[in-house]
Amino acid sequence: MRTFLFNEIIFGPVNSRRLGISLGINLLPAGFKLCTFNCLYCECGWTHDSKDIHKAFPPRKIVYDFLEQKLRLLKVHKYSIDTITFAGNGEPTLHPEFAGIIGDAIQIRNTHYPGVKIAVLSNASTIRKEEIFQALKKIESNILKLDSGKEETIRLLNNPKNDFNLHETIKYLTRFNGDFILQTMFVRGNYQGKIIDNTTTEEIEAWLEALKIIHPKLVMVYTFARLTPHNELSKVPVHDLNIIADKVKKININVQVFG
Ligand code: SF4
Repeated sequence: MRTFLFNEIIFGPVNSRRLGISLGINLLPAGFKLCTFNCLYCECGWTHDSKDIHKAFPPRKIVYDFLEQKLRLLKVHKYSIDTITFAGNGEPTLHPEFAGIIGDAIQIRNTHYPGVKIAVLSNASTIRKEEIFQALKKIESNILKLDSGKEETIRLLNNPKNDFNLHETIKYLTRFNGDFILQTMFVRGNYQGKIIDNTTTEEIEAWLEALKIIHPKLVMVYTFARLTPHNELSKVPVHDLNIIADKVKKININVQVFG
């Protein structure tokens, strides 16, 4: 399977279907996927065991210098960007200096591109850590994952590697007071003899119940766009994503569909 891993710390700008023109920051080791989840659909491929890590996280000072240089250069060329996005080879909040790097990024952004949003794509598995939560609260666009309102589905689809607990995750998501974007990947398929389908009536009902509790400012409903590590998955048609989105609108939550 061809995986989609970054060797650079700063990548792009790229035209992102969800973020507009986005300058990416990869805080994970180069060419090495590290995450607290091991999602069957992850475009970075299967998650490595952290004990197999053979490359270092990029040091905070290097991230600072690379981001500062890149934004300065883009400004000289009058390049327009919409978002500075922490994404890359896995879960960005795993970087041991994540909070400090967010502070640096805000300072550099304010100097060179004050109108541009900073976004973090995260699976929300680390938001229980106060330092991570406080860092995320400082940025404009937290895009946090919740693929199901049923723990057994999350265990199958996302394969959490830490001590994930759905009830706790929902509780910690409420601490954002609605000031975040929830992202949900919808897929269908089979895995280890079990059917995976987070679009069934039962699934959507449980997910909507979770949405009612956490009430994000926006829900991004989407399906995968690239090859997946587990090859028995299929995309959910846009027509079906739109039906799901209509149910989100009925509970007065903004929603966008990315097919
Ligand atoms: S949470 Fe994101 S990075 Fe981690 S395995 Fe899932 S899709 Fe990949």
